[in-house]
Amino acid sequence: MVGASLAAALRDTDLTVALVEGYAPDAAAQPSFDERTTAIGNGSRAVFEGLGVWPRMAAEGAAIRAIHVSDAGRFGFARLSAAEQGLDAFGHVLPNRAIGRALWSVLEGAPRLTPYMPARAVQVTVDSGAATLEVERTGKARERLQASLLVAADGAQSMLRSTLGLPSHVEDYGQVAVVANVAAESRHDGTAYERFTSVGPLALLPLADGSYTVVWALAPGAAERARALPDVQFLAELQRRFGWRVGRFVRAGARASYPLALTRSDATHGERVVLIGNAAQALHPVAGQGFNLGLRDAATLAEVLACAKARGEDVGSRAVIERFVAAREGDRRGVIRFTDGLVKLFRDERRGVGLLRDLGLLFFDLAPPAKRAMSRVSWGFAGRLPRLARGLGLANQDRPERHGD
Ligand SMILES: Cc1cc2nc3c(=O)[nH]c(=O)nc-3n(C[C@H](O)[C@H](O)[C@H](O)COP(=O)(O)OP(=O)(O)OC[C@H]3O[C@@H](n4cnc5c(N)ncnc54)[C@H](O)[C@@H]3O)c2cc1C
Repeated sequence: MVGASLAAALRDTDLTVALVEGYAPDAAAQPSFDERTTAIGNGSRAVFEGLGVWPRMAAEGAAIRAIHVSDAGRFGFARLSAAEQGLDAFGHVLPNRAIGRALWSVLEGAPRLTPYMPARAVQVTVDSGAATLEVERTGKARERLQASLLVAADGAQSMLRSTLGLPSHVEDYGQVAVVANVAAESRHDGTAYERFTSVGPLALLPLADGSYTVVWALAPGAAERARALPDVQFLAELQRRFGWRVGRFVRAGARASYPLALTRSDATHGERVVLIGNAAQALHPVAGQGFNLGLRDAATLAEVLACAKARGEDVGSRAVIERFVAAREGDRRGVIRFTDGLVKLFRDERRGVGLLRDLGLLFFDLAPPAKRAMSRVSWGFAGRLPRLARGLGLANQDRPERHGD
């Protein structure tokens, strides 16, 4: 999703781009545009509007008009209403496949883009002059692509990152997310729920057809059992953990599962290489921030590259790469800390921590400035917003804006 978004952002610049992807966008095994849904914040919607893809996906999304956070079995809870914050919505929930279709529809036929798809990147080397990628396509001889800059957007297990020896750290959360679509007796009212249960956080997000998607983080064994349960028992277990806030759950779709870890690359760049999206940082889905953060990586990189190209700079030079890395540092650090902190705070079973948590949620529920601050999270944590999120195109940048202003 992040690499295709970058390619979409670069399609109207003077850069020549090769996009290498292991699966066709509509392939059943596509691991990014799969059956999941993604909650995108208002900042991401603005980027998609800037890319001209929002109208191609909007009808398949559901608006998040309110957020409800609670600590199961305890008294703490908080509510956030978009209308009270002067917003139409906090964001939208979209099927990953809808995002994929919309992006691919503008990439097809883009004049300076060559898609290698389905194709595997199998080897990479870099020197001071160029990055060279070896690519395999079924039934064809191995091809060598040379570029001034290689962007690794190949996910949390990034082959490019490890082949280039860029160090990363993995912190296993000891949780697996079970994902499924479920329907309740009545349609949702646009509220997204985050419920912290003793077995892990459980999110219920509204979908366009009035049902919900569930993202439920559980210990690995419990996740395996939940996934294998017949629908009726799965719904009963979900009801027991979630409660009755949305009425009775009546239908469940197929379940999928995703092991959860924080994977963080120590450096998000090397010689003629930058990492974006999950290849740079893969987060716990608890606050729905991973793709939003990755999309800001892509939008900022497109902006930095378009400007460098317009000024006649080498887009893979150290100066250009460092401009991008500096622009992303604050947001990246902020979102990682926020997400990781949330996971750890709500699984802390030490005496007194639960009470502090509840008081924190109550304080939050009663404190308008805290709510205003929280509703800004959907725009990112630090630094200036990418031009694409501000409704500005990438053309006509006569000078690089100072990132971080
Ligand atoms: C259960 C769950 C729920 C989530 N919910 C949200 C949410 O609500 N909001 C949000 O913002 N984020 C969410 N996320 C996070 C989000 O899914 C990721 O941040 C996002 O998918 C990252 O996209 P990416 O393109 O960087 O990486 P990926 O989605 O991993 O894509 C990597 C791509 O690289 C390709 N690839 C890999 N290696 C090669 C190779 N050698 N050659 C060719 N191609 C290759 C793959 O085929 C794939 O298409 C969620 C994550 C999970 C697990």
